[in-house]
Amino acid sequence: MIVDTIFVNIFVTLLTEKELSPLSYIITYKVNTKITILHNFMNNNITILGIESSCDDTSAAVLRNTTLLSSVIASQAVHEKYGGVIPELASRAHQQNIVPVVDTALKEAGVTVDQIDAIAFTRGPGLLGSLMVGTSFTKGLSIAHNIPMVEVNHLHGHILSHFVDLPDRELPHPNYPFLCLLVSGGHTQIVKVDAPDKMEIVGTTIDDAAGEALDKCAKVMGLPYPGGPIIDRLAKEGNKEAFKFAKPRVEGLNYSFSGLKTSFLYTLRDSVAENENFIEQNKADLCASLLHTVVDILVDKLIKASKLYNIKDIALGGGVSANSALRARIEAEGAKRHWRTFLPELKFTTDNAAMIAVAGYYRYLKGELSPLDATPIARYEEMI
Ligand code: ADP
Ligand code: MG
Repeated sequence: MIVDTIFVNIFVTLLTEKELSPLSYIITYKVNTKITILHNFMNNNITILGIESSCDDTSAAVLRNTTLLSSVIASQAVHEKYGGVIPELASRAHQQNIVPVVDTALKEAGVTVDQIDAIAFTRGPGLLGSLMVGTSFTKGLSIAHNIPMVEVNHLHGHILSHFVDLPDRELPHPNYPFLCLLVSGGHTQIVKVDAPDKMEIVGTTIDDAAGEALDKCAKVMGLPYPGGPIIDRLAKEGNKEAFKFAKPRVEGLNYSFSGLKTSFLYTLRDSVAENENFIEQNKADLCASLLHTVVDILVDKLIKASKLYNIKDIALGGGVSANSALRARIEAEGAKRHWRTFLPELKFTTDNAAMIAVAGYYRYLKGELSPLDATPIARYEEMI
């Protein structure tokens, strides 16, 4: 008991030094798990295997504490010809990929299965069949090797990707509280992050996500899926003032992109009626103007949120945070407004298991292990 108290006291000191909330870390876990976690934490030797399979990327990564030892991503080319992700095909591709992907991640990290302290897996949100593959694989590995499982909300992963350290390079970390603009194919949110386990969505889209709107507009222009990165590339050669599209009037910090999508569609429809080569002749200008409008909408609310909460540590996350116009704009606004801006490394923008592993690391420290009957959850917004 005395030894236990000493451990706890040391643990509190260590966590306080790491600027984490110590009390909440101590309350939840059982004694034997606590001692194991404590022991590993004090030896600075926690090894986490992360597994991500929420959509169409099968990914595994190994972290030693927060340092990335390996990261493997198998993207699924099978969807390209359909203009979007086909859930059934995604599940099958995950089934084919998951064993070699995890095997490669472990080999590249120089880690054996028995050295893993916990397996962090994406429980949701995402495609149910895809999530099922990662979850079931995690359970199998967990049972076979007696390794605890830690479920992770995919969105927490995107946000906490800013805390993954690279072995050869220090990356800057935001200080708590910070604001994260989370922009992906499925989500557009402003999240106030007070701690790894304390986040609040302060703004969200009331209809389409920004990435979804870009992908849909790209499809209308006849561009392949996913259109976001292609719009990014084409926009660089276009004039962002060439076309004006409708901007939404939404209260507070919320977003809307369906009006912009319709406005884009109508511009194309009317112009193509007069000139059937309109899209081909104006592609770069259309992309530049569309992207400019999307970035304006995203950044306007972010500025508003920063003022409202008086927070100047501003991070970006999610697939659309790879966008060069958005990144440049955030940096420019940051310089003007004395923000500290945190743009994720490009490899951490789209879905990856490194971010799942780091989010799992923080949950593991709290002793938040998942039971073997944990099921995937397609819609997981309530976790934030
Ligand atoms: P989700 O997890 O919601 O499926 P991701 O985080 O994988 O989404 O992000 C995918 C989205 O990011 C897609 O909508 C894609 O078009 C968009 N995207 C990726 N790269 C870029 C880019 N450079 N510019 C704009 N959008 C991009
Ligand atoms: Mg994602």
